[in-house]
Amino acid sequence: MKIAIIGAGFGGMAAAYDLKKSGHDVAIFESADYVGGLASGFKEPHWDWSVEKFYHHWFQSDKYMLGLIHELGWEDKVIFPRPLTVMYHKGKFYPFDSILKALLFPGLGFGLDKIRFGFVGLFLRLTNNWKALEKVTADSWMMKWAGRNVYEKMWKPLLIGKFGPFYRDVNMAWMWARIKARTTRLGTFEGGFQRFADTFAQRLRESAVEIRLGAKVESVRREQAGLSVRSDGKSESFDKVLVTTSPSLMAKLSPDLPKNYLQGLLELKSMGAVVMVLSLKNQLSKEGYYWFNLPKEAGFPMLALVEHTNFVSPEHFGGDHILYAGDYLEAGHEYFSLSDEQLLEKFLPAFQKINPEFSRDWVKKVWVFKTNYAQPVPLLNHSQNIPPIQTPIDGLYFASMSQVYPWDRGTNFAVEIGRRAARLMMD
Ligand SMILES: Cc1cc2nc3c(=O)[nH]c(=O)nc-3n(C[C@H](O)[C@H](O)[C@H](O)COP(=O)(O)OP(=O)(O)OC[C@H]3O[C@@H](n4cnc5c(N)ncnc54)[C@H](O)[C@@H]3O)c2cc1C
Repeated sequence: MKIAIIGAGFGGMAAAYDLKKSGHDVAIFESADYVGGLASGFKEPHWDWSVEKFYHHWFQSDKYMLGLIHELGWEDKVIFPRPLTVMYHKGKFYPFDSILKALLFPGLGFGLDKIRFGFVGLFLRLTNNWKALEKVTADSWMMKWAGRNVYEKMWKPLLIGKFGPFYRDVNMAWMWARIKARTTRLGTFEGGFQRFADTFAQRLRESAVEIRLGAKVESVRREQAGLSVRSDGKSESFDKVLVTTSPSLMAKLSPDLPKNYLQGLLELKSMGAVVMVLSLKNQLSKEGYYWFNLPKEAGFPMLALVEHTNFVSPEHFGGDHILYAGDYLEAGHEYFSLSDEQLLEKFLPAFQKINPEFSRDWVKKVWVFKTNYAQPVPLLNHSQNIPPIQTPIDGLYFASMSQVYPWDRGTNFAVEIGRRAARLMMD
């Protein structure tokens, strides 16, 4: 078969790998001039490693991602350090990445609340019945079982941070998946995620997958002979097509889809993200903390502050210290229209709170990355709203972050759904 894949993110490339291995002709159309999609990175000339535009790491439980790397023979390139994650409480940060550390966290006192926190965590780790959990919101479930205090201190800030105005609507299966699939050791690829994406693309090219960069697809339509993919004003016919963009883009690319499928795509909610990357002259967190969970209520202007070089060594970045400051935001939020300079002004006081010695002249360079499609929002009974990978148009398939539910989006599940789509295409 002659197959087109729209998007050279981790999902599209994983699908291409399997389709090619089974002997099909595969062409990937990618609108950007690089591969890797949302997990791509960039590099300054004096850095050996790239930095992801949006902070990224793997969990030890990411079996699809790590399984693919194993098949490719590159597991010696994966490292799993154990960086420190901290929680905020009354002006101080406390390590919070193991059961013991959680038990010592003063934010929940040392009485009943801590026991409820422990039992709820244990229950969610042990149960597999996510279908029951998607019938209730995380807000009401946590309030009932963890109690108001635990919910408001621990879980509500996370929900507000991730889902903003939709935080009360998110179902409990999302929270279950998040707790279930995480580990304290975090992984990355030697050289950064972009190095993995480039090496993978190279392997695909060597096996005769054609990767067309800078090739933005304008439409995918069914014609008698096959599916017509239009890019750069030219149309080309394929037997099968896999689209890996956001649902709203899929709806635009293929307006001939039946009304109910199109409506399903357009009704899926998601949050965008704005992430600033800074290179600093000095280390920000004196304690060497990697991931700061920041409650909005405490006045922080971002959800996450991540000192990347407390996860991987600053040696890989010519001694620069790399910091991320990011947030998940609904479309139209003011951060999307601020200049880099204006956003930096908003963020500077938070850096000073983390380290009072921090001053503006520590900042060597700033980059800001924005996307409208960063985090799907799973509402009640979401499993019934997932568009099938196989669309009603014969030969047209769709695989995106919005369909990996009940799991939360991530490169691991991009690989899983890409490979699942490839299997369906070969059926
Ligand atoms: C802030 C943030 C933090 C994250 N943190 C992590 C993390 O720590 N760990 C982790 O594993 N994952 C993380 N993720 C998620 C991860 O990046 C995604 O799940 C994964 O990259 C999705 O891959 P994909 O192939 O499905 O889609 P994408 O990467 O979005 O790929 C789709 C591709 O399609 C291309 N495209 C779009 N329109 C067209 C068109 N018209 N024509 C041609 N090409 C087109 C795009 O340029 C893109 O390359 C994070 C994401 C964000 C936003």
